[in-house]
Amino acid sequence: MMAGIVIVGAGYCGVSAAHGARAAGYDGPITLVGDDPEWPYERPPLSKWDGAMPRLQPIFPEDWYTQNRIDLKWGAVVTAIDRSARNVTLGTGVTLPYAKLLLATGASPRHLPPHAPSDACARYLRSHADAMNLAQDICAGSDVVIIGGGFIGLELAASLSARKAFVHVIEAQERILARAVPPEISQMVLDLHKTRGVTVHTGTTVDAIKNNLVSLSTGQTVRAEHLIIGIGSEPNTVLAANAGLTVDNGIAVDGCFATNDPDIFAAGDCCSLPVEGAGRTRFESWQVAGDQGYRAGKVMAGVTPDPTPPPWFWSDQFDHSLQVVGQPSPAGTRILRPLPSGGLITIETDDNGTLTAAAGFAAGNAVGRDIKIIQKLMQAGVTPDPAALADPNTPLKTILKQR
Ligand code: FAD
Ligand code: NAP
Repeated sequence: MMAGIVIVGAGYCGVSAAHGARAAGYDGPITLVGDDPEWPYERPPLSKWDGAMPRLQPIFPEDWYTQNRIDLKWGAVVTAIDRSARNVTLGTGVTLPYAKLLLATGASPRHLPPHAPSDACARYLRSHADAMNLAQDICAGSDVVIIGGGFIGLELAASLSARKAFVHVIEAQERILARAVPPEISQMVLDLHKTRGVTVHTGTTVDAIKNNLVSLSTGQTVRAEHLIIGIGSEPNTVLAANAGLTVDNGIAVDGCFATNDPDIFAAGDCCSLPVEGAGRTRFESWQVAGDQGYRAGKVMAGVTPDPTPPPWFWSDQFDHSLQVVGQPSPAGTRILRPLPSGGLITIETDDNGTLTAAAGFAAGNAVGRDIKIIQKLMQAGVTPDPAALADPNTPLKTILKQR
């Protein structure tokens, strides 16, 4: 078999890498290996149920793979990489040679520590099968406790309470989404959940879980017929580490996604990139995973990709949407731009007044356009007048035109 590009992991990153390599004109064989039993699908709909069941949304239709000559081996696991022989071994024992190898192995839910005070069956959400199990078991009137007030916890809380389940969210930090958004946005998200019937306990940990009762550090006890854990994710690095690749908060790559082996690349949730002032950073979001995969595919095809845009992500909770561009930091100077619809955009600048990040939260998609414009302002490296940014009567597109 002729050695071409082999991609391990058929999530959004791995599929985007195959896409990027073909878009860059690569004509050789591309093999995409994924261990999930379903055809490659999107993860975002798994926690946003629209009142119905979680949707199985394919990344591309089946004929896209044949049209692009992608040899998709789904339901297959790569168990080892032999760097000197330049091949990977599948669970079946079959070996696949590679000229270039991409690890797009993603991440797995962080588990409660083994000594955690629980006798209940804790459940996690990452795959379509996980989402279907939750959706089948939890119904109107169910008592649900979710540990972790991050994206999984809050999106699921919204989906489940829309089904009329009784939901408690337990968050260890003093505020929800503390690492992802500024305090003003955390507060708005919290207020929304409270008004829709979700009970959120911040600054709270779990002391014990016994007989379907969860004892909290506040002294309160809540009933949990169903216990869901959403306390973060861990990059899938075992394959890389066993092959002697450097792992440092994820599979360590440079700005062109190369590992310490020049023929092996990594991208998406499994990898860490050097970020100035922040050390090795993992970006755990859909747009970044797709963008990194696409770029890594181009690199493996021998094409230098364009500069990376600032990272962007979104979250839908109830009928509201949250969008973030850049990486909000508690140290940044924040400008607040209230929206006429009742939503809010926060814009961060550095000491020179250059825009570094923004976050917006509102009903519907009221923040989408403005966040896109702010992303363009960030890419242009401009230093707009803070008073104009704060004034909802000054359209951001006017500021963009003036740059
Ligand atoms: P993954 O999607 O994890 O894919 C990696 C794949 O590789 C997996 O299928 C894994 O099983 C497979 N694999 C691993 N090891 C092997 C091996 N040895 N052999 C074969 N296959 C292997 N982001 C947003 O920006 N907005 C959202 O609204 C949003 N919603 C989300 C909702 C949920 C429920 C989840 C779980 C995530 C959500 N995300 C969201 C995050 C986003 O989906 C991820 O950042 C993105 O899926 C990462 O893509 P990836 O391809 O790097 O990794
Ligand atoms: P997350 O967004 O990192 O949030 C986990 C939250 O749980 C954090 O606030 C964390 O605090 C807290 N926590 C940790 N240990 C805890 C404990 N013992 N008790 C109570 N709270 C605890 O992770 P996630 O929500 O589990 O999501 C998993 C992955 O899916 C992430 O990669 C996420 O980005 C992705 N995802 C993204 C979206 C989206 O972007 N819309 C939607 C769903 C999922 P600390 O920060 O202090 O650890």
